[in-house]
Amino acid sequence: MICSNCYNEHNFEIREEHEVICVRGDNIEIVSKVTYCKDCGQKVWNPEHDSNNLKVAYSLYRKKHNLLTPEEIIAIRERYGISQTTFAKVLGLGEKTIARYENGSIQDTAQNNLILLSQNIDNFKTLFEHQIARLDEGEIQKINDTLNRYTPKVISKSCYTKPTQFKNCLFGGFNYEQSEYEYNFIPAI
Ligand SMILES: [Zn+2]
Repeated sequence: MICSNCYNEHNFEIREEHEVICVRGDNIEIVSKVTYCKDCGQKVWNPEHDSNNLKVAYSLYRKKHNLLTPEEIIAIRERYGISQTTFAKVLGLGEKTIARYENGSIQDTAQNNLILLSQNIDNFKTLFEHQIARLDEGEIQKINDTLNRYTPKVISKSCYTKPTQFKNCLFGGFNYEQSEYEYNFIPAI
């Protein structure tokens, strides 16, 4: 790092400042870290801080709009043991789309909802069957293997009264209260 004003290379200080960053047309206020040259007092461009400030703004935007984080998207995809490309194909998105979201790009609400719904295995299966023409044999085999491992088995109604038992159920979103049968998804590993 170097001050472009006085060419000082060592004498810097970091200050915290309120900053408004426009994310997809929405003004997000963050406390950003800004680097100043202690010799001449000029702001100094610090790529690491700029990138981090943007990450903070994106994170606040996601929270405000109730969008999945990159980590949550990764977790949903990894439950099915498939690549970013395969997951994108199953969802009917462009092949690079999931990779972009996992790397920090912000998804719009419709795509977010699609990913969210895909964490339910029944929805995932429906999408898989609908998009099967886009998938190659290896991808189809891999998904079939995963789906077979998660084949639901009917368990007794006595478990019905212990909803806590399902709290850590691998696939969320299943409505146990209204379902005719109870399903116990068996973890893959
Ligand atoms: Zn300077």
